[in-house]
Amino acid sequence: MADLKKTREQNKEGAFFVDSSCIDCGTCYWMAPDTFVNKDGQSAVFQQPSSLNEATSALRALYSCPTFSIGHKDKSPLDKEVEASFPFPIGDPKDFIYLTGFHAENSFGATSYFIERKGPEGPKNILVDSPRFFSKMAKKLYDRGGALYQFLTHRDDIADTDRYFKAFSPLGKTKRIIHQDDATKDPLKSYEIILKGFEPYQLDSETVIIPVPGHTRGSCVLLYKNKYLFTGDHLAYSLKLKQLIAFKRACWYDFNIQIESMKKLLDFSFSYILPGHGAPFGTTQEKMKKELEKCIQWMESS
Ligand code: SF4
Ligand SMILES: [Zn+2]
Repeated sequence: MADLKKTREQNKEGAFFVDSSCIDCGTCYWMAPDTFVNKDGQSAVFQQPSSLNEATSALRALYSCPTFSIGHKDKSPLDKEVEASFPFPIGDPKDFIYLTGFHAENSFGATSYFIERKGPEGPKNILVDSPRFFSKMAKKLYDRGGALYQFLTHRDDIADTDRYFKAFSPLGKTKRIIHQDDATKDPLKSYEIILKGFEPYQLDSETVIIPVPGHTRGSCVLLYKNKYLFTGDHLAYSLKLKQLIAFKRACWYDFNIQIESMKKLLDFSFSYILPGHGAPFGTTQEKMKKELEKCIQWMESS
């Protein structure tokens, strides 16, 4: 829980506050941009919510904050309602894509996603990266059929993958997926599917995993229905620059190789970017291609 005694002085006085434990992961900046902003290297409330929508977004950020740094002094039934609303839908409702919330500190607050889908033999859900372990969330996902796959974009965002894997184990079907080049230690080396090489890997008829070395050597993105690209830390959208970006200062392997990996994505079609860090971004397929070309030019000149 956020500590009122450690409230940052940069907060605007009112019901919501941020304490000094914030790690500046950025989640609340895009999840509730009308309430939170970076001030002096950490989050602060710059404006208290003044509508139900703003209060709901601020509470979503509160429940997603990896370090429990956001506090709310005037609890109401809305608090419980918002907590219960996770996982909540994103994108086209008929595609059943969800944000899980409850980000984990050990993945620096990375976003994880849940794809809910059914096949003739039962649920074929995919958990992309991992939220922090939260028993209510594990039960909700279990009740929806658990995950046929737990796909990891790269080694930084593993968080509580193994605890969710264990929670889903009575269903007896989950496979964890990671690229060999990021599976450098136990237990990652013993995950059920270890990807090798750099060719796209067709997971099933509507899902392809594309290795994109650069941010890490084993980074991969997952393309679903030629529409949603789950990008981990390979590709993100900057609300400030209003364009697609890559994280040059947080590139752990090779930025030039990351540029080549980015070019590979021009061969694929998608209209949503669902990143590990930063706001999801959606547009038309045509505009996304142009945005990607612009991002590549920006990377080459940076
Ligand atoms: S979500 Fe939490 S840790 Fe991340 S920037 Fe906001 S207050 Fe800080
Ligand atoms: Zn990373």
